Amino acid sequence: MYDANHLIRQLRDSSLGREDDVFARLPDGSTVTFGALFAGAERMAAALVSQGVQPGDRVAVQVQKTIQAIELYLGTVMAGGIFLPLNTAYTGPEVAYFVGDAEPRVVVCDRARLEEISAVAGAAQVLTLDANGLGSLRTLADGQDGFEAVAREPGDLAAILYTSGTTGRSKGAMLSHDNLSSNSAMLQEYWRFTAEDVLIHALPIFHTHGLFVATNVALFAGAQVVFLPGFNADAILEAMPSATAMMGVPTFYTRLLADERVTKERAANMRLFISGSAPLLVDTHEQWETRTGHRILERYGMTETNMSTSNPYDGERRPGTVGFPLPGVEARVMQDGAEVPAGEIGVLEVRGANVFQGYWQMPEKTAEELKPDGWFITGDMAKIDADGYVTIVGREKDLVITGGFNVYPKEVESLIDDLPGVLESAVIGVPHPDFGEAVVAVVVPEGEGTSADAIHSALSGQLARFKQPKQVILLEALPRNTMGKVQKKALREEYAGLFG
Ligand code: AMP
Repeated sequence: MYDANHLIRQLRDSSLGREDDVFARLPDGSTVTFGALFAGAERMAAALVSQGVQPGDRVAVQVQKTIQAIELYLGTVMAGGIFLPLNTAYTGPEVAYFVGDAEPRVVVCDRARLEEISAVAGAAQVLTLDANGLGSLRTLADGQDGFEAVAREPGDLAAILYTSGTTGRSKGAMLSHDNLSSNSAMLQEYWRFTAEDVLIHALPIFHTHGLFVATNVALFAGAQVVFLPGFNADAILEAMPSATAMMGVPTFYTRLLADERVTKERAANMRLFISGSAPLLVDTHEQWETRTGHRILERYGMTETNMSTSNPYDGERRPGTVGFPLPGVEARVMQDGAEVPAGEIGVLEVRGANVFQGYWQMPEKTAEELKPDGWFITGDMAKIDADGYVTIVGREKDLVITGGFNVYPKEVESLIDDLPGVLESAVIGVPHPDFGEAVVAVVVPEGEGTSADAIHSALSGQLARFKQPKQVILLEALPRNTMGKVQKKALREEYAGLFG
């Protein structure tokens, strides 16, 4: 009864006949079997259809991370709908933009926000699903019985995920059944996930990393997940001795390193630690290896492309790089319309079955970034070395142009990060009356600490003058979003007035 639905059939395939096996271990000690998960998803699908959801309709969802939310994702796709998850941090006015843009048939939110969301939901039906898995949607679902998955082709849309919108309005990336299934099938194989695996799942499920990379790969493998509502060092460390893999953002690793309980003994059963969504510091990679004996496997992707590159499972995992283009994915580095030689920096483009279908109702934006021959301009600056390893140097829009010279923030950040007394740094460009932009370094000290003078003098011998920060600012912590990405836009705004 799932066969006609491209994505659901594949998500279900590896657990067929294993309905009584455990899919998820929950924090309260209870478990959810594969059979229960898919039965729950069927009830969700039936509930959505009872509310008028038809194939191609959007179902916008702003809820806490629960198994019922996963069932809602699967149920939406089963019903032929398009799943549209929203960051739980979005405010009413922000949700209003997404709802106005995507025109969903149904909006699902936490009961605590029912009034606020109803006020901006327009013609959509508003249902609730709370952090305890209960709510009006759940009640409606509990009264349903079974569902025949709606037929969907590989090219039909399964999800729309809005980009974080650091430049202008947030854009809805349209992802097809095949975009998701081809990437998950490939990652499962590349990272060797099997039904024997137990994956620590502590990532949010409104983002591609937790929803598609972690959840879909686990389902494709028929693996088990330790399903945590969010990052929690105690819960992760408790799960580790009986787990085999973890997917995290770099801040997971830096936070865990601060905990003495991270040891080789505790990680003895683990076979794989994966990091992505933001750059992993070389220092973190090295410390993790010293403490656990494991070399973190760093990979790179984005909402629009799913996963594009990964360090190898067997070969050398090179710190500071994001590895090779994944099987079926092509990557090239371009400048002024031509591919650059190995080792040179330019804008990274990728092509393959992983690349999305375009931005929802934004044909001009789509045409700017997705070329007719299938190459997608990622907006990330990168280089590919002679061995084929890809290094992400930063977002194109974070490039600093000072006095007509290009400064790649990562080059300056890497040098600063290596200095004693420095935890990490972010290099930004701020308006400057003479230079157009000036290089500013925002630095987080650690241990013995450091000073602006110490940083200025350490860099003076190592960097061309135009790359040296005009000002060094010491901060206690860098602003980050939930995916661990440094919010350079916020820093640029904060320090916009530094030079006049
Ligand atoms: P998102 O669409 O929210 O997943 O953000 C995608 C962006 O995150 C990419 O375009 C990169 O700028 C960044 N990113 C993802 N993974 C990595 C990584 N391993 N290293 C550096 N940047 C990354």
